[in-house]
Amino acid sequence: MENQKVRVRFAPSPTGPLHIGGVRTALYNYLFAKKHGGELILRIEDTDSQRFVPGAEEYIIESFNWLGITFDEGVHVGGPCAPYRQSERKDIYKKYVDQLLDAGLAYVAFDTPQELDAKRAEIANFQYDASTRGLMRNSLTLSADEVKTLIEAGNQYVVRIKIEPGQDVVVNDLIRGEVVINSSILDDKVLYKSADQLPTYHMANIVDDHLMEISHVIRGEEWLPSAPLHVLLYRFLGWEDTMPRFAHLPLLLKPDGNGKLSKRDGDRLGFPVFPLEWKDPKSGDISSGYREAGYLPDAVVNFLALLGWNSGTDQEIFSMQELIDLFSLERCSKSGAKFDFEKGKWFNHKYIQAKSNEEIAALFQPLLKENGVEAADDKVAQVVGLVKERVNFVQELWAQSSFFFEAPTTYDEKTVKKRWKEDTPAQLTELIEVLKGIEDFTPHNSEEVVKGWIAEKEYHLGNIMNAFRLAIVGESKGPHMFDIITIIGKEETIARLEKAIATI
Ligand code: GLU
Repeated sequence: MENQKVRVRFAPSPTGPLHIGGVRTALYNYLFAKKHGGELILRIEDTDSQRFVPGAEEYIIESFNWLGITFDEGVHVGGPCAPYRQSERKDIYKKYVDQLLDAGLAYVAFDTPQELDAKRAEIANFQYDASTRGLMRNSLTLSADEVKTLIEAGNQYVVRIKIEPGQDVVVNDLIRGEVVINSSILDDKVLYKSADQLPTYHMANIVDDHLMEISHVIRGEEWLPSAPLHVLLYRFLGWEDTMPRFAHLPLLLKPDGNGKLSKRDGDRLGFPVFPLEWKDPKSGDISSGYREAGYLPDAVVNFLALLGWNSGTDQEIFSMQELIDLFSLERCSKSGAKFDFEKGKWFNHKYIQAKSNEEIAALFQPLLKENGVEAADDKVAQVVGLVKERVNFVQELWAQSSFFFEAPTTYDEKTVKKRWKEDTPAQLTELIEVLKGIEDFTPHNSEEVVKGWIAEKEYHLGNIMNAFRLAIVGESKGPHMFDIITIIGKEETIARLEKAIATI
C-alpha cells in the first residue's frame, strides 16, 4: 500500500446538476492526485436507472472544463479501465455477486415491495438483518430447490449481503481517524437486482474501485455511514490487502445557522449552489450557476479549496499550483465548513483585480455589445483599469462605466439641485474654451491647465468640478475626471458640456 501509486476518482451519480459540495470533493481529489503525481478518474455511477437525469453527465463534464479540473482517465477522455460508465460495465459485476453467493456471504431474496411494506407495518423500525431475515422469503429460509424453481419461473429477486451481527467494523479514515461501528446496526443491503441485472451503488462502487486500482477514496461525509459496509465488502471479496484508504470530507454548512447547505439556502439568500446554470429537463426550472452569476473559475476554485482545508497560514489567495503544492488530507478539518458566500464575492473581487485589464476587457466586451456598444479593445481595457476596483463581478462594470461609451441622456435630479448653480452655465462655457485650447489632452496636462484657469479666475474648485462631472457622467460618480475626459476625448467632452448647458 505504501508504495502504491496514487489513483483517485470522482464518481458522481448523474441524478441532476452537480452540487457545489461535489465540486469541492472533485477539487480535493484533483489536488491530491496532482500533489502525489497520481491519477484522477471520472467515473459515472449510473446503475440506478430510476434516478437517471438526462444531461447531468454532460453538465458535470462541462463544469470541470470550466473550472480547469482535468481528469487523467474517465468517461469523457477514455483510459485503460474503460468503460467508465457503470451502466456499460454490467457484465463485469455479476461474477463478483456470484462469488459472494457461492461463499455464503450473500443470499437471494424474493420479498416483493408489498411484502416488505407489510413487515414494516408489523415490526417497528424494521430492518432487513440477522434478526429478521429468518422471517423473510429468501435463500436462507427456502430450500435450494424452491429458490431454483422461483428463479426459473422468472420471479424477480435481489441479492443481499449477509452481515453477521455483533462485530466491530473499523474504518480507518485519514481525516477522522479510527471510526468503529458495530455490525449490529447495519442492514443486509441490496447488492444486485435481477430486474435490471445491475448491481446497486455499493457493489458497483467497490468492484470498480478495486478494478481501477483506486488508492484513496476521498468523498463527502454523507458517505461515511456506508463505509463500514464497504469495508466488509472488501473483506468478503478477498480484497482487504488493496483496500483504498478513506478520507471523508467535512460537510458544507448553511451560511447562517446549523445544518447542511442546501439549494434552498441559495435561493433564500441569493447565491448559486451549482457551478453552472441548470435547467431541469422535466420542470424546466432554472437554477443559477457560478459561471452565469459572473464568477471567475479560479476564484471559485480558490474559495472552495478553503472550505474544509487550510494551509496553516494567513494566506488566502492561492493559484491552482500553490494549492497542489500545499494540499494535504491531514490539514482537512473534521468539522463542517460554513458556506460563507460573501467571502466568495470577496475572492471574485480579488481575482478581478489580479487579472490584467485586457483579460477582463475580453470578458466585458460581450456585455458592451449587448448594450449596443462597439468599442476598441484597448479603450475597453483602459476603462476597465479605471473602474475594476469598484466591482465584484464583470457584469457590474457596465453600471460603473457606461458613460465612457455613451453620453448621459438624463441628469440625476438630486445632483442637479445640489451642483448646478446659477453661474454654472457661464463657467462651463468658459471651460469649453479652455479645453479647446489644450493641445496635449492627457490627464496630467488637462488637469494643470483647467486648475490653473480656475485659480486664476478665483472660481470655486469644487463647484466647477462637480458640475463638470454632472455634464460628462450624468451623476456624481466615476473615477478621476481628467482620466475620464482623456478616454472619451476632447471633442466628446466639449459636446457633452454643450449639451448639458443647453438642457439642464
Ligand atoms: N456515486 C456516489 C456519489 O454520487 C459516489 C460516492 C463515492 O465517492 O463513493 O457521490
